[in-house]
Amino acid sequence: MGDEILRVRGLKTRFFTDEGQINAVEDVSFDVRDGEIYGIVGESGSGKSVTALSVVDLVDSPGRVTAGEVWYRNADLAEEFREKRPDAVDGDLVDVRQLPEGVRRSLRGPSFSMIFQDPMSSFNPSLTVGEQIAEAVEVQRRARANPRRTRSRTQGYGLGSLLVDSLIPSRSYLDETSRARAVELLEQVGIPDPAERAEEYPHQFSGGMLQRAMIAQALAGEPDVLVADEPTTALDVTIQAQILNLLRDLQEEEGMSVVMITHDLGVIARMCDRVGVMYAGEIVERGTLEDVFETPVHPYTRGLLGSIPDLADPAPRLQPIEGNVPSLLDSEMGERCYFADRCPKAMEDCLRRIPEFDADGSDEHRVRCVLAEQPYDESRALEEGDGEREVTAND
Ligand code: SF4
Repeated sequence: MGDEILRVRGLKTRFFTDEGQINAVEDVSFDVRDGEIYGIVGESGSGKSVTALSVVDLVDSPGRVTAGEVWYRNADLAEEFREKRPDAVDGDLVDVRQLPEGVRRSLRGPSFSMIFQDPMSSFNPSLTVGEQIAEAVEVQRRARANPRRTRSRTQGYGLGSLLVDSLIPSRSYLDETSRARAVELLEQVGIPDPAERAEEYPHQFSGGMLQRAMIAQALAGEPDVLVADEPTTALDVTIQAQILNLLRDLQEEEGMSVVMITHDLGVIARMCDRVGVMYAGEIVERGTLEDVFETPVHPYTRGLLGSIPDLADPAPRLQPIEGNVPSLLDSEMGERCYFADRCPKAMEDCLRRIPEFDADGSDEHRVRCVLAEQPYDESRALEEGDGEREVTAND
């Protein structure tokens, strides 16, 4: 594994709703290295997907990334902005959040790409799968043919192209080389008879095939970092295994880095080198796979691990984590540990402050919990049903 390709620091994302401000991502920091698969795991509602969308700059209104840095290693970009935006450059790393919007947009595809969890809703049902992948290839082809300044606004589609398309509406946007590349990509992700399947519509594909097609589309720009948001959730178990194997093979072939977002610890164990555990918008524990799986410290991580079956030592009953994730409404969060209302080890100290967490992204095993600083003291334990410990749940 190489140097860091992505360095995320203090990321905060808020949603401004009629009910109030929702703190979906709260001070999240992590690093991803060259050729690494980094896992982010947590329950639904823990902020994993919004973290992914924040990194690739795809958060929609009423949400907004309100703070933090997303450093991306790219020597050309660093050179281009070293003098213009010195605060946004550190060696070969560039803080993409400080770059103009057009430049950020131009990074989607060749720098960052994303696979979403539901392929059926991600494809346009009225266009063939091949056309949709070819479109992604075409956008990247045009972008590469133009200097960054031009493509930042138009993705290579200039006024001339617009005029020609207006005068000849039947003119195809897609070049033959893009269509041919789409077929190659379908072949690369294991779609049989790719030339024929490229002519089919999304409803003619099975769920697993469509997920493969979405991976092909994500690869169109040959990204440095691929963000996979629950890529196997909508699939049955045997297809899940095929898609995970495919992702692993592609990651090795292409030398990409992957950020794997999942609620499934089995996926993390199978795929990832290092992992961050998320709860209530925060990373509460992070480390190598070995650290987190073999010596978990945070009671939430321990709860997650305790709630999966162990085939070697089947317990009579699984141990679920009682309660639900909090609503994340700013007015209800406060300066306290957000897991306190569900935590079997909660003590008085846990309600007085947010546990400290080292955000420097070092390799060490880190935990956001008072138990990382002091041993459990039963005499200071909170009673079950103590009203003070409860925050509003997000049912
Ligand atoms: S800080 Fe306290 S309440 Fe929070 S996880 Fe640790 S022990 Fe539990």
